[in-house]
Amino acid sequence: MRVNKYAGRCAECGASVAVEAGQLIGAPGSWRTICLTCSPTPPPRGDHGGWHELALASLDFETTGVDPLTDRVLSFALLDDRGRDFCGLIDPAVPIPAASAAVHGLTAEALAGAPAPVDAIAEVVAWVQDLVDRGIGLVVFNAAYDLTMLRAEAERWGLAQPDWSRLLVVDPYVVDWGIERGGLGPRRLTDVATYYGVTLDNAHDATADARAAREIAHEIGRRHPDIAAGSLEQLMDRQRAWYADRAEDWNRYAATVGRTLDDPAGWPLQRVAAPVVRSA
Ligand SMILES: [Zn+2]
Repeated sequence: MRVNKYAGRCAECGASVAVEAGQLIGAPGSWRTICLTCSPTPPPRGDHGGWHELALASLDFETTGVDPLTDRVLSFALLDDRGRDFCGLIDPAVPIPAASAAVHGLTAEALAGAPAPVDAIAEVVAWVQDLVDRGIGLVVFNAAYDLTMLRAEAERWGLAQPDWSRLLVVDPYVVDWGIERGGLGPRRLTDVATYYGVTLDNAHDATADARAAREIAHEIGRRHPDIAAGSLEQLMDRQRAWYADRAEDWNRYAATVGRTLDDPAGWPLQRVAAPVVRSA
């Protein structure tokens, strides 16, 4: 959830809410202000079994921008299931937009002398393939972005692709949508971390983001027995369905305001076709 930028009345209890003293709830185009007392909280932890009891890996990238097909990886965090963290920087050999550097602090100066993309991406691909070979679930918050970018980078540098069809992905962004159905307002990593009580002190650092995403995945499983039940393979199918629902929900809104439409079949990898933009 996100703080309210404007003063208003709580949509639940009617109390007046000062600027930034409450939160936003709702869906794109219909945000409502809500006071902190009325803000929803997740269900308590249970002692049920489920995929959340498995050791999971986690991956996060910081990048040059928001387009996974053309933007580049600048730093990566690969947290494996055995407590080993591999983190690295990449000298992208392309300019880094100031707006991106302002988000994560990675400038051309900071990355000078870092490994070339072809070498670093080869390591990332090999790491992912090892997870595939061992059947380990990989947590990626908004996988359709990071994994699509990894596929594009591997293709760009002439590397063999991981066996994507066998990769088991846990995407807390998609699972959270499946639970909340967009009813709780903006749900970026920082929003979902706050909701589940997961500490994220250094947002937009790849390692911090990857740790938080994995902890969120475990918290979701601990607190939602219906979500935790079943295998990771079954969770893949459910995430594909949730992603399709989310995309259709978004597209209904986006089509009315001329925003880019999402591909309902674009999880965990976008299809390669360019996104469609429909004007109002
Ligand atoms: Zn209230």
